[in-house]
Amino acid sequence: ARPQELLLDVDKVRKQFGGLVAVNDVSFQIFAGEIIGLIGPNGAGKSTTFNLISGVLPLSSGAVRFRGHAVSNKPSREIARLGMSRTFQHVKMIPDMSVLENVALGAYVRSSKGVVQGMLGLGKAEEKQLFAEAERQLQRVGMGTQMFELAGNLALGPQRLMEIARALCTDPALLLLDEPAAGLRHKEKQALGDVIRQLKREGMSVLLVEHDMEFVMGLTDRIVVMEFGTKLVEGTPALIQSSPIVRAAYLGT
Ligand code: ADP
Ligand code: MG
Repeated sequence: ARPQELLLDVDKVRKQFGGLVAVNDVSFQIFAGEIIGLIGPNGAGKSTTFNLISGVLPLSSGAVRFRGHAVSNKPSREIARLGMSRTFQHVKMIPDMSVLENVALGAYVRSSKGVVQGMLGLGKAEEKQLFAEAERQLQRVGMGTQMFELAGNLALGPQRLMEIARALCTDPALLLLDEPAAGLRHKEKQALGDVIRQLKREGMSVLLVEHDMEFVMGLTDRIVVMEFGTKLVEGTPALIQSSPIVRAAYLGT
């Protein structure tokens, strides 16, 4: 087999908030085409790890390398340009705007200097291109028929898919999803799982933080377990499921 391309190298990453060590020298790697799960109890440091990888927070120490570039402490937008994209734990949207407008606006803010007013000065051709891309990504996540609904009227499942469509507009090689299945109904989880599996087939890598064990087990190639800011163990879903350390720490059995 041909050696896998190393996409993301998280190297002894550390984050302190005052006296609290939220992420304690955590290391793991992601290779091209993998779906990796990041699990652990509330407060384990999962979202903080995401924020360190995606440039939302500065590291206290350690390094993050993406496609061979040192991206530690680089601005989010620069990291996005290299091919990393993310969603947040809480859906970010303008409820009174259509789904399509939300995705187009989000794509614009991510790909440009971030000045929203700049969108008003866009040429007709650029605007058309932006909306065409937004439409293409909405189709890709199965939201083609809901493009013109108000974002605020969507159920949580479609809102999460809208967020993924927005993240896809920058054409990422690695997609970071923070608790995408939280609060979703069974059918919505299935739709989300189908979208993630399709992205993998298209060659994308996905790192997802998740609480729902069943969802993670059925979807991921490898799982990293965190507790109290440290990496407890890492392995295939089968290994994680049968690990006594994980059962004791996380599943409480
Ligand atoms: P998880 O996503 O696994 O639930 P977080 O990464 O959100 O955990 O939080 C890890 C720890 O860091 C928690 O104890 C949390 O209270 C703390 N924490 C997170 N963000 C901040 C912050 N901006 N300032 C201070 N403490 C924080
Ligand atoms: Mg979190």
